[in-house]
Amino acid sequence: MKYKKIVIKVGSHVLTQKGSVAKIRMLALVQLIAHLKNNQYQVILVSSGAVSAGYTKIKLDRNILANKQALASIGQAYLMKMYQEKFAIFDLMCSQVLLSADVFDSQKHISHAKDAIDTLLKNGVIPIINENDTVSVDELVFGDNDRLSAHVAHYFDADLLVILSDIDAFYDKDPNKHPDAKRRAIVNHITQEELDAKHTPNNEFATGGIVTKLQSAHFLMENNRDMFLASGFDLSNIKNYLIDGVHNGGTLFRK
Ligand code: ADP
Repeated sequence: MKYKKIVIKVGSHVLTQKGSVAKIRMLALVQLIAHLKNNQYQVILVSSGAVSAGYTKIKLDRNILANKQALASIGQAYLMKMYQEKFAIFDLMCSQVLLSADVFDSQKHISHAKDAIDTLLKNGVIPIINENDTVSVDELVFGDNDRLSAHVAHYFDADLLVILSDIDAFYDKDPNKHPDAKRRAIVNHITQEELDAKHTPNNEFATGGIVTKLQSAHFLMENNRDMFLASGFDLSNIKNYLIDGVHNGGTLFRK
């Protein structure tokens, strides 16, 4: 497998279950990352879930922006504590990197952030990136971590972005509405119509939907990088692809 430096993005839907953090799924993800590191991969994790993790501690109305930011502030620390505990099981260290969208507007900021991330990777640490929800103001907000993770993959020079979602692949139509939807194994081109489709977030915490994943894939393919969309509930497809080079599930976006 030619990939060396990869970004893995996990959505809040995957990390949350019945209003709490899905601990077993988080452990499976951490175990996969440990496995990838043993196979010479450098891994950057982009993790959502701060707002949902905060909501498990205090029930503030998430429709109010300041409440959402407060929940992110509470939940981010809690989320990191859980990641630290889980990575420690595998003798691994993780670190927190909070980014706002405007970091990517400045070459200077990008280069400083990239140096810091590369230093962490060189020292065997897993950087865990999230948007800095507590200070982001409307126009700076990425709105979802799909696009943030695509920027992370491109500007920090990763070979591949893996998006672990509540859906196991990209289909020719929404598989939750159409039982006869067919998986697309490899996608080389995304049409303007697909890029413009309306957002279809599938749960109350998800703000992305498939469209932001396609936009991310489009951006990365334009920059000659790959993206892989796979299930975050069952990690066997992504594991088979990255460890054994077997593509038996998920969608590879490659130009
Ligand atoms: P996550 O929170 O895991 O990042 P979302 O729930 O925001 O993901 O987006 C994935 C959802 O997008 C799926 O559950 C599915 O209902 C919907 N969707 C719409 N069209 C498609 C499609 N063509 N292929 C796959 N999923 C689709």
